[in-house]
Amino acid sequence: MPAPPCASCHAARAALRRPRSGQALCGACFCAAFEAEVLHTVLAGRLLPPGAVVAVGASGGKDSTVLAHVLRALAPRLGISLQLVAVDEGIGGYRDAALAAVRRQAARWELPLTVVAYEDLFGGWTMDAVARSTAGSGRSRSCCTFCGVLRRRALEEGARRVGATHIVTGHNADDMAETVLMNFLRGDAGRLARGGGLGSPGEGGALPRCRPLQFASQKEVVLYAHFRRLDYFSEECVYAPEAFRGHARDLLKRLEAARPSAVLDLVHSAERLALAPAARPPRPGACSRCGALASRTLCQACALLDGLNRGRPRLAIGKGRRGLDEEATPGTPGDPVRPPASKAVPTF
Ligand code: SF4
Repeated sequence: MPAPPCASCHAARAALRRPRSGQALCGACFCAAFEAEVLHTVLAGRLLPPGAVVAVGASGGKDSTVLAHVLRALAPRLGISLQLVAVDEGIGGYRDAALAAVRRQAARWELPLTVVAYEDLFGGWTMDAVARSTAGSGRSRSCCTFCGVLRRRALEEGARRVGATHIVTGHNADDMAETVLMNFLRGDAGRLARGGGLGSPGEGGALPRCRPLQFASQKEVVLYAHFRRLDYFSEECVYAPEAFRGHARDLLKRLEAARPSAVLDLVHSAERLALAPAARPPRPGACSRCGALASRTLCQACALLDGLNRGRPRLAIGKGRRGLDEEATPGTPGDPVRPPASKAVPTF
């Protein structure tokens, strides 16, 4: 049976049905609709003001590739300029190939690219070194916990180096729904309350962050990359199979099969979630070591590095952090950093 005509232009044959609405569109009309929806998200949420210098967290994967491509198309209309910032976590056999994809994108789209490496920023620690360090601690599944915290810090550092005023990341609706589920499953009310909205306004001197693809489904991100013929890196990180996120992803797939709106319902539920005053976490202060926003004596990044440097990575995660906070003397640099090789101290 021939494909129906495109419901938008009525000239071409439809090439897809939009997963949520069922609308039959040709590739060109779908891409135009996708870009218009991202523009609406940015304008309605007042995410990127005219004149903003926007650091795009570029991983080489489909989400950040699509984000950079769409924002590049929208940049003249929004009055923004773009910088690609890539983070090299130091994951052998994975990140080098992904960074090669980012370099190709930067060259093809004529966008400036800056790469910041964990090894340089965090006193010699790479993710491979962190994985080796945590492997014997009963916490070998925690690589992504470390990496998520360090990555956030590295992206902030890279964005500052290029003079960015805003940071954007490629998280899509499925990523956000998984995060909401993970926070529920971990009972992390503080993160649930902070996780709603389209990003963070830049508390405590941090750059404002946003997620312009937050309402775009993963399926549509893949379809956009397909119809725009985007070159991206699609292999999974070697540490991803260990991540707790995989369980949330499986659960979400089952939920979506039973209730197709489950992804967006979860994203919107987090937006509307408000904690009762008694349940609200204390107002964050400043990390005694680096000055970043922190709900305890040390921010998460400094606590993680502290635990690693003391050879006690378990202390750096969850309730164990209290031990580190008690050991850290406010206002002093704490223990010298002991990276796996003779390396410099962290730069923050
Ligand atoms: Fe880092 Fe985990 Fe992502 Fe790998 S999967 S890059 S370890 S957060």
